[in-house]
Amino acid sequence: MALVNGGFLREHCAVAELARQDGAAIEVRGLFKSYGDVQAVSGIDLTVERGQIFALLGPNGAGKTTTVEILEGYRSRGGGTVKVLGYDPGRQRQRQRLKNQIGIVLQSTGVDRYLTVVETVAMYAGFYPHPRPVDEVIDLVGLAAKRDTRVLKLSGGQQRRLDVAIALAGNPDLLFLDEPTTGFDPSARHEAWEVVKNLAALGKTVLLTTHYMDEAQYLADQVAVISSGRIVAEGPPATIGNRDQARARIRYRLAGGATPPAGLTAPPGPDGLIELVPDELTGALHRLTGWALEQHVELDGLEVIRPSLEDVYLELTDSPAAQAGPEPASAEPATTAPAGGKGRRR
Ligand code: ATP
Repeated sequence: MALVNGGFLREHCAVAELARQDGAAIEVRGLFKSYGDVQAVSGIDLTVERGQIFALLGPNGAGKTTTVEILEGYRSRGGGTVKVLGYDPGRQRQRQRLKNQIGIVLQSTGVDRYLTVVETVAMYAGFYPHPRPVDEVIDLVGLAAKRDTRVLKLSGGQQRRLDVAIALAGNPDLLFLDEPTTGFDPSARHEAWEVVKNLAALGKTVLLTTHYMDEAQYLADQVAVISSGRIVAEGPPATIGNRDQARARIRYRLAGGATPPAGLTAPPGPDGLIELVPDELTGALHRLTGWALEQHVELDGLEVIRPSLEDVYLELTDSPAAQAGPEPASAEPATTAPAGGKGRRR
């Protein structure tokens, strides 16, 4: 009788080989998922390159969590192909390997409040075969001064940093951050952004979901907007939805009763602001400011505005189809969802 199961060994080696493959960190083609008669994800394609910060945006119920949980191996898919760090999270043996190489920051976690920061990170590090040194992780998230403080004495922002530290404990190549700054005050948000930027500087790949457009704008190399289970736009934050090519608007308010030259004025809005969408921005701005200087007129609140990421996002997700929410499931085989809704627990 053979001492080693040959089939097991071959599969084991094949799985290990997958991890060594180069290529994108995440590759998704034609992903489907339905819950009974609700089609939550309707044919998503996604590529997240290694080392990228990728933001998934979308309104409530768009299918973000479902997509991310399928990538993490916490949900089954109804159709399509998924590769995460070369593994198929839908296959049990590959999923186990994958889980050693990813870190997950959930919206809320249930860590022991009586442990200190260092004890907490050390405990999670103990679950992984090749953890990152505990004090290095604590430093990385900016909690060195709180190393020996109990979790219950940390502020909300510091607890969130601890969540990131826990996700980093196993030294993962890929991190999933689920709405990482929800509920933060503005300064805590900016601090958390720096932590995420530090992760990218270490070469980690980050997939985050967020409802904050400024967060996506600041952090992400690439953004995908998901609406009713479909990707409706994808690109770098500066150019998504042809933002960079959209015509700029000029806005100003006139003090006194002066009348600007034709083509450079419009009826003011209720706030007194005049808004123009000139064919040629530089020339219009030059003529308007030249006229104002000559006439000694002040152009209060003068600004040039281009569509923000938020404008583009609202346009993409405010369409009647997007408002209608996920489609009823059709041809795709329905799969059974785990009970209890958002199912991930550490
Ligand atoms: P949010 O921003 O509110 O977290 P989301 O984009 O993450 O939303 P999902 O949680 O993926 O959206 O939900 C997509 C659709 O699937 C929604 O219509 C939701 O009601 C439905 N859904 C999600 N989980 C389940 C479940 N376990 N059972 C049945 N339907 C579900």
